[in-house]
Amino acid sequence: NVSSHDLKVSDHAHHFHPFTDHGALGVDERRVISRADGVWLWDTDGNRIMDGMAGLWCVNVGHGRNEIVEAVRAQMSELAYYNTFFKTSHPPVIELSEKIAEIAPDHMNMVVYGSSGSDANDTVFRMVRTYWDVMGKPEKKVIISRKNAYHGSTVAGASLGGMGGMHGQGGLPVPGIHHIDQPYWFGEGMKTGMSEEEFGIWAARELDRAIEEMGEDKIAAFIAEPIQGAGGVIVPPASYWPEVKKILEARDILFVSDEVICGFGRTGEWFGADYYGTKPDFMPIAKGLTSGYLPLGGVIISDRVKEVFHRSEAGEFYHGYTYSGHPAACAAALANLEIMKRENLVGRVKNDIGPFMQKLWAELGEHDLVGEARMVGLVGALELVPQKSDLSRRFDNVGRVGTIARDHSFKNGLVMRAVRDSLIISPPLVMSEEEASEMAATAKKTLDDTWKTLKADG
Ligand code: PLP
Repeated sequence: NVSSHDLKVSDHAHHFHPFTDHGALGVDERRVISRADGVWLWDTDGNRIMDGMAGLWCVNVGHGRNEIVEAVRAQMSELAYYNTFFKTSHPPVIELSEKIAEIAPDHMNMVVYGSSGSDANDTVFRMVRTYWDVMGKPEKKVIISRKNAYHGSTVAGASLGGMGGMHGQGGLPVPGIHHIDQPYWFGEGMKTGMSEEEFGIWAARELDRAIEEMGEDKIAAFIAEPIQGAGGVIVPPASYWPEVKKILEARDILFVSDEVICGFGRTGEWFGADYYGTKPDFMPIAKGLTSGYLPLGGVIISDRVKEVFHRSEAGEFYHGYTYSGHPAACAAALANLEIMKRENLVGRVKNDIGPFMQKLWAELGEHDLVGEARMVGLVGALELVPQKSDLSRRFDNVGRVGTIARDHSFKNGLVMRAVRDSLIISPPLVMSEEEASEMAATAKKTLDDTWKTLKADG
């Protein structure tokens, strides 16, 4: 019977939140979520809110699926925990690995487990370099990534990521990572004078230019999200991935497709690599793997990577986590995948609810405040601009208007995220057409309210 206010006081006193300016966060601004069902959240102040972000881009099957709870309960009473080190395994991790191999691209058939997307990218960092050591090319160490990417919060994850703010704290990135430009048409491309197609090819060739400059014999891998998520849902021009694919085919480097957001149906395919037709050697996964019901992450590896790690000269790979392939988390993932298949959620995003939502989203793009409305599958952004008749203009004080809009959205009963001056949406894949319409109507009201606030501010 603790009051909402008392919970917030205690939160303020004892809970250090991720990605939070603690000095600026007062007690009563906090939001305590106590229950969820489908696309709906309830907070301890009695508000009912739509979860437009599926938690943190992860609750793909929606909240409150008892089937997952029951599967976890059954697994925990049978074998709550055992490890997978050395020679040991257990039924749920074996079954899950087989199921993941079934849905992964044909040339990817093995999974290395952890508990999150961040540790998955640490695993990638170590495996990529070890791969080249085994291949007798230890000088291939540099990993090329992209500006504005998000690959997690661990030392390797934050270094691989291209977020200026993260690099500004604690002396990151670690050496051996090189960041190239991103294929951000609305933010960067439009002002170059190139067409969108030309810009996509130019951005892809940044990869080739970086390889040339540093020398192919120094480059271990290229890592990228199919669509940058936390960087602002940066949907690349259609020409980008085909050109990157050509470059990767011509070069002796590994390719890491970070599927932590794009994986498990978000784009209307199982993986973003399927959507864009790329051929990865590593796919870090997390989030939608369990729909967030329990923490589980991993890296799906290609047959060529597997073959190298299975060579006798490779020896032991000194890497693993206590919770690699945790039985209860694997049981959650198995139940989650079962729901995704039974309810054909991937096909639904591709053919039904995805196109339905994309149409509503495009209509929001007509709003005076929106410079670009972009959405693939069920992940999208509304990029806000000060003057619709001049799309080259941006708001001063980047991020202020995005934050105003996000706060209006919360008040209106819809969780959207602000990235700079874009509003982001990534809802559960199970949402109904009615809920999608309500989400779009609330987003529209949010844009109107933001417009009014900006007018009142002058
Ligand atoms: N990679 C991508 C593309 C992500 O979006 C995220 C998280 O948002 C991560 C990695 C890190 O995952 P986690 O938060 O599970 O560590």
